[in-house]
Amino acid sequence: MQRQIIDYALQRKARLAEVHSGRRAVADVCDASPYLLRAAKFHGRPSPTLCPICRKEQVTLVSWVFGDKLGQVSGSARSSEEITRLATSAEEFSVHVVEVCRTCSWNHLVQSYVAGLPPRSTRRRRVAK
Ligand SMILES: [Zn+2]
Repeated sequence: MQRQIIDYALQRKARLAEVHSGRRAVADVCDASPYLLRAAKFHGRPSPTLCPICRKEQVTLVSWVFGDKLGQVSGSARSSEEITRLATSAEEFSVHVVEVCRTCSWNHLVQSYVAGLPPRSTRRRRVAK
């Protein structure tokens, strides 16, 4: 279950306005790292949104997971199926959804949310799992 959902549409819009007005260089926003592009290729999911910069392809959504309890999984890109599985087995973690264009390397955070089981400290010890 997703909670604490934050939408970054306004920030995205502001960023694009900066680019369109020339206040920010395209190279500045089209700076996806090879790591992110690779994640988009292997873990990304298609989106209906056309790339706002090059308009040559639809952006790919990549979900990154972060959490103290995730161990090595923290800070990695995961598919929707993996996140669904994690949400039922792992303790609270956050997910950052980034859109990336594999043509021009545009990338921007679009959404973040918290998923996973409630932290143990708030659960009663005697409750069996
Ligand atoms: Zn693009």
